[in-house]
Amino acid sequence: MNIHEYQAKEILRSYGIPVPRGRVALKADQVQRTAREMGGRCVVKAQIYAGGRGKAGGVRLVANPDEALLAAKDLFGKTLVTPQTGPDGLIVRRILVEEAVEIAREFYLSITLDRQTSRYCVIASAEGGMEIEALAEKSPEKIHILTIDPYIGLRPYQARKLALALGMTGRLCEECVALITNLYRCCLEKDCTLVEINPLVITKADWLLAMDAKVNFDDNALFRHPEYPDMTDLSQIDPLEITAGEFDLSYIKLKGNIGCMVNGAGLAMATLDMLSEYGGAPANFLDVGGGATRDRVAEAFKIILGDPDVRGVFVNIFGGIMRCDVIAEGVIAAASEVGCTLPIVVRMDGTLVEEGKRLLDESDLNVKFTHDLAEGVESIVGMVGKSSD
Ligand code: GDP
Ligand code: MN
Repeated sequence: MNIHEYQAKEILRSYGIPVPRGRVALKADQVQRTAREMGGRCVVKAQIYAGGRGKAGGVRLVANPDEALLAAKDLFGKTLVTPQTGPDGLIVRRILVEEAVEIAREFYLSITLDRQTSRYCVIASAEGGMEIEALAEKSPEKIHILTIDPYIGLRPYQARKLALALGMTGRLCEECVALITNLYRCCLEKDCTLVEINPLVITKADWLLAMDAKVNFDDNALFRHPEYPDMTDLSQIDPLEITAGEFDLSYIKLKGNIGCMVNGAGLAMATLDMLSEYGGAPANFLDVGGGATRDRVAEAFKIILGDPDVRGVFVNIFGGIMRCDVIAEGVIAAASEVGCTLPIVVRMDGTLVEEGKRLLDESDLNVKFTHDLAEGVESIVGMVGKSSD
């Protein structure tokens, strides 16, 4: 789960990590007023669920409140496209106004889960800022990685070794040790999959400061943090994904034109592979889960049809716990409700399959039934067309 930079900074502040003074605004005149409070010179920062804003014009250094107002008017409602947003970009609805800081040096610091070792690791570099991805490619030796043993935790000497590797000495080094230690505590207690400070800076006045912050929460730990869902900014999420979340469906939008409804993540993966194998392009990944009800199936189907890229739908269900007649009823209800005329291929097998088939045959939908997976895939790709066509 994602949150905005300003929310991430509030969390970091509560762990004693120094962040610039600032306030979030929803309207341009609030940006102007806040800029005045900050003393005029400030940074106007678009809040979107993605990084790379600096290069996309989403971070503006302004000299006075009037310039802040102009920047805010330009940014509010704008769609920012950065290397992290995908081609559709994300729309700016919130702006963070912060006191401007004079930067002497920029560093990179993050803690994330290393899936190879199944452990948290601290990643740090003395060359932080907007070119960190390029640095990782060209000079990986300049990036320091420390894997944390979960039983021993992060020891101060390990954090000190990192701070020294970043070139910090004396008071700054000890401040950096405290910062890294606090960041790890934050990561554990808040159940984060990522906490990233890029750049972490030393200011010209010689203070350590987190200039940017990114925090991702582990979705599987949300039950431990009932306050997290309220932090979500729905304007940053695909509406179809929001609806899917409400019905507890795993839905991920993809680039193709064949909508897919499948039960079980493994079967869904196999279905996408089969579609690709036959030259088709899946429009989404949708797992309705093991014990879906008629209503959930209907919602899932409506989500698929809500995607304007979809030219046909492939349903692939194995009725184990799930009954095929329930699936058929859900599909018929949803398709009738939205007046769907697209071709639908249903590949079903398992519990009460004959009953499911009968219901589909009797409906007046444009639906083809099959038992065989390859036959079903071939037939939907045949109707919708290959991805290279
Ligand atoms: P990102 O591009 O989405 O990662 O956004 P950042 O918050 O990291 O901002 C991009 C860049 O703007 C940073 O790497 C800094 O170099 C610069 N920047 C941000 N805030 C300030 C500031 O207060 N003063 C100065 N001089 N530069 C800033
Ligand atoms: Mn950044």
